[in-house]
Amino acid sequence: MSTAPTVRTRIAPSPTGFLHLGTARTALYSWAYARHHGGQFVLRIEDTDVARSTQDSVDQILASMAWLGLAHDEGPIYQMQRLVRYQAVVEQMIAAGTAYRCWCTPAELEAMREAQRARGEKTRYDGRWRPAPGKQLPPPPADVQPVVRFANPEGGAVSWDDLVKGPITIRNEEIDDLIILRPDGVPTYNFAVVVDDWDMAITHVFRGDEHINNTPWQINIFKALGAPLPRFGHCPIILGDDGLKLSKRRGAVSVTAYQDAGYLPEAMLNYLARLGWSHGDDELFTREQMVAWFDGSHLAKSPAQWDPAKLAWVNSHYMKLADDARLAELVADQLARRGIVADDAGLLARGAALFKDRCSTVVELADWLSMIFRPVQPAEADLSAHVNDAVRAALPGLRERLAAAAWDKAGIAAALKETLAAHQLKMPQLAPAVRVLVCGRAQTPSVDAVLALFPRDIVLSRLQ
Ligand code: GLU
Repeated sequence: MSTAPTVRTRIAPSPTGFLHLGTARTALYSWAYARHHGGQFVLRIEDTDVARSTQDSVDQILASMAWLGLAHDEGPIYQMQRLVRYQAVVEQMIAAGTAYRCWCTPAELEAMREAQRARGEKTRYDGRWRPAPGKQLPPPPADVQPVVRFANPEGGAVSWDDLVKGPITIRNEEIDDLIILRPDGVPTYNFAVVVDDWDMAITHVFRGDEHINNTPWQINIFKALGAPLPRFGHCPIILGDDGLKLSKRRGAVSVTAYQDAGYLPEAMLNYLARLGWSHGDDELFTREQMVAWFDGSHLAKSPAQWDPAKLAWVNSHYMKLADDARLAELVADQLARRGIVADDAGLLARGAALFKDRCSTVVELADWLSMIFRPVQPAEADLSAHVNDAVRAALPGLRERLAAAAWDKAGIAAALKETLAAHQLKMPQLAPAVRVLVCGRAQTPSVDAVLALFPRDIVLSRLQ
C-alpha cells in the first residue's frame, strides 16, 4: 500500500483587489491537481497586509472562485485569525535559536544599506542582532519595538525540483535574515505562508513565478520547523497581447471584468488552462477532461501571451453549446445593466437560440436582443440601399397581412410570401428592407424567425 500523503493544494490570494487572471490560473491548476489525485483543495485568504486588505476584495475573490466553479474543500481560512498560532511558532523558533529579535530602527537599517551601497555591496541585513556563540549583543533599546528575524542558515544552498521550472538552487549567502514577525505581532508573508502550508498539510504549491525568490526562505523555514516540504511549481507570468506583463493599465486583469464582459466561466477555465499547460493539441476540453488530464506535467516554462481573439473563439464555442434558458438569464442581466427590463424568459431563450451562433459573448447577444426593447436607428446608407420605392409600395400591404397573421414564424412567413406575390417582389428585395426597418441592420438570421421575437405592435410601428 502506498504511504504517500493525500494530495492537498491551496490557493492563497491576498484580498487587496479582484481575483487576478494569474491567480485564477494557479487556482485552476491547484484545484485540478487536487481533483485529479482525489485530494483536497484549500482556500486561504492572506490578509496580513492590513492596510490594503478589504472585505470587498474578499467578497469579490470568493464570488469569482464560485463563478469559475473552483470549489474549495476547506476554508476560507483567514490569516488574521491565526495570529496566536504564528506568534507561538515564533516563540518556539526563538527558543530553538532559529529566530531572534532585532531592535534595528528603520533609520539604522537605512544607514546600513547606505553604507553597503557606498562600498558597492548588495544591500542586506548584516546580522547585527543575530546571536552567535561568544558574540556580545548590545542591550535592547527600551524605546524600540523589536521585529523577529529568521536565522537563515549561513552556508550551503537551497535546492528544489520545481514542478514547472525543474531543478533550482540558491546559495544561502545570497539571502539574508528576513523579518518574520513585525513589531505589531503580524507575521510577514514568507513566514505565515510556511506555518499555514505546514498546518494545512499542503503537499503541492502552485503559484506565480514572482514568488520564486521567496521559496528559498520558505524552504529554510520549513526545515527549521522540521516540517515536511511541499513540492513547488512556479508558473510563468501571463503577458498581455503586447508582449508586456499583463497589467491593469493595459487591459482587464480581473476575472470579474471578463464575467462583466459576457464571457462564460467554462470558456474562461478552458482558456486559462491552456495558457501555460497543454494536453497534446487539444484546445477545447471540458473541466472533467482537464481534471482527468492534469497531473502536473506539461506545464509551460515560458510565459504565455494573453490572446483576446483566441479567448473570444473559445467563448463562442461555449456560447453555441450553452443552454438557451441559461443564456436567457445571462442576457437578461446584461440588458438590465443597460436599463432594459427584459422579464420574458421564454422570449430571451428563443432569442438566444436564434443568435447565439453568431455571438462570441453574452454582451454581443445583448447587443442583438436590445433591438427588441429599444428603438433602432437604421443607418442612412442601409435605408437608401434597401428601402427603395418598390419595397415602399409593398409595406402597407405587408403591415395589413402581419396585423392579421398568426404571430409565429409560420404565420409571419406566410404574410411575407403573400406580400411578395401581390407586389411581384423577391424575398432578397423585401427581407433586407424589413430587417433594416425593424432590426436596424440588413443582416440577421431568417427574417420570419427574427420578427416572431418582437411584439407584433412594435414590428407594425417600425414598418410604418
Ligand atoms: N498571497 C500570495 C499572493 O497572492 C500567495 C502566494 C502563494 O501562493 O504562496 O501572491
